[in-house]
Amino acid sequence: MMGYDENNIFAKILRKEVPCETVYEDEKILAFRDIQPCAPVHVLVIPKEAYISFQDFSTRASPEDIVHYFKTVSRIACDLKLSDKGFRLVANTGSESGNMVPHFHTHIIGGKQLGDISGA
Ligand code: AMP
Repeated sequence: MMGYDENNIFAKILRKEVPCETVYEDEKILAFRDIQPCAPVHVLVIPKEAYISFQDFSTRASPEDIVHYFKTVSRIACDLKLSDKGFRLVANTGSESGNMVPHFHTHIIGGKQLGDISGA
């Protein structure tokens, strides 16, 4: 895809050039533990196709793939036993968000009482 950096760290993880701790995988999606967890559970869920950002994914991916992605995020949160006590989803988008890796991903964060996000 034009503009997609094939050398971003998640592209390398998808090509198995860099290891990760996989928690879920299917033909469209990979989920793995964040290398610098900010909570006891911190998992990143990525589509295997090359989407730069949430905006890119939500405009270019097929409706089926978008539905499959978000249903899978929900299933992973459930499998991680986060459903009862709750969790946070984060998709940093663009420079003001602090987004570092230019491959669309959603953070699933939980396993403790999370702080207030105002001003975060
Ligand atoms: P952001 O782009 O700001 O939404 O965050 C990217 C996230 O990727 C950060 O939380 C990093 O800790 C995480 N990260 C960076 N490199 C790796 C890696 N090799 N394995 C797992 N997580 C990573």
